Parts: sequence; structure tokens; C-alpha cells
Amino acid sequence: KSGFISIIGRPNVGKSTFLNRVIGQKIAIMSDKPQTTRNKIQGVLTREQSQMIFIDTPGIHKPKHKLGEFMIKVSKNTLREVDVIMFMVNAEQGLGKGDEFILELLEGTQTPVFLVVNKIDQIHPDEIVGIIDSYKSKYNFAEIIPISALQGNNVDNLLEVIEKYL
Ligand code: GDP
Ligand code: MG
Repeated sequence: KSGFISIIGRPNVGKSTFLNRVIGQKIAIMSDKPQTTRNKIQGVLTREQSQMIFIDTPGIHKPKHKLGEFMIKVSKNTLREVDVIMFMVNAEQGLGKGDEFILELLEGTQTPVFLVVNKIDQIHPDEIVGIIDSYKSKYNFAEIIPISALQGNNVDNLLEVIEKYL
């Protein structure tokens, strides 16, 4: 089976680090090129049971006031068409304005949204529950998965769960 996964999240949450880890250096460099209105394939991960195509969702990482109506429409259409939306957040910083903006765009989306709490290597394990609760109160996530993209903690588990949705 195969499917499309959109990784969204505000800058510096670790999206490129995650792609580097699962796909490799070369591909993730592509994702640093300036965004266009077209959806970009950031990398393809071929596993034993599946193929995962990670795509960029233009516009969604930018602050609201810079987003035109057209870009919002493009973003929403993309999010409708993927199989899984990975909403990545920074455990170190917690819920912020940038997250709230993205959650607003996600409202009404039928696509399953995963809350991926990244950088758990930077916090005390006892803090994870509180962080998760703050996001949970804002959105009905299909799955909630804490990871460290840098150190690799729980990344394999995340991929296995994604596979179930393809
Ligand atoms: P992006 O803007 O969402 O693509 O974020 P990047 O992948 O460029 O990461 C931003 C910064 O966070 C870099 O310095 C990464 O090394 C760091 N980073 C990413 N993931 C982790 C993580 O799991 N733990 C820690 N400690 N740092 C991370
Ligand atoms: Mg990046």
C-alpha cells in the first residue's frame, strides 16, 4: 500500500530533521528551496509493507497576515487530498500562536491528523502529558505520538502507525 503524508508545523519544530532521518540528507535539502504554489514531493520512503510519499503543503507554515486567500485554498485542498497529516510541534516550546494558526486551518478537515510532539529529548518525561493535554483541548487528533527526530526515539513506531492509515 502507498499514500501521501503532509508534514506541517511552524518553523524549527524539526520537520526537515525528521525527513532527513527517515529518507536521507539529499532529499531534505530540496525542501529548503523557496516554496511555490505547487505541492512538492519532499521524499519517498519505501518500506517492506508500504510506500510513503511525503509532500510539502505550501503556505501553511507562514503567519496568517502574509497568506492570501488563494494560498489558504491551495493549502486546504492539499490537506484534503493526503492520507495523513503530521502536525509537528515543539515539546520544548509548547502551544504557541503559530500552532493555533495551523489548527484553525485544519478545522473541518476529514483527513486524520497526527499530533507529533517532537524534541522530547529536551524535556522531562513528566512534562509530556501536560503538553499533550494543551493541544488535545484544541483539536481531535487521530493519533498522538511523541518523538525525537534528532535522536530517533519512537520514530519507527510513528512510521508503523502511519502505515495503518494508508
Ligand atoms: P524545520 O524548520 O521544522 O524543518 O526544523 P529543522 O528540522 O530545521 O530543525 C530545527 C532545529 O531543531 C535544528 O537545529 C534541529 O537540529 C533541531 N531539532 C530537530 N529535531 C530535534 C529533536 O528531536 N531534538 C532536539 N534536541 N533538537 C531537534
Ligand atoms: Mg525545514
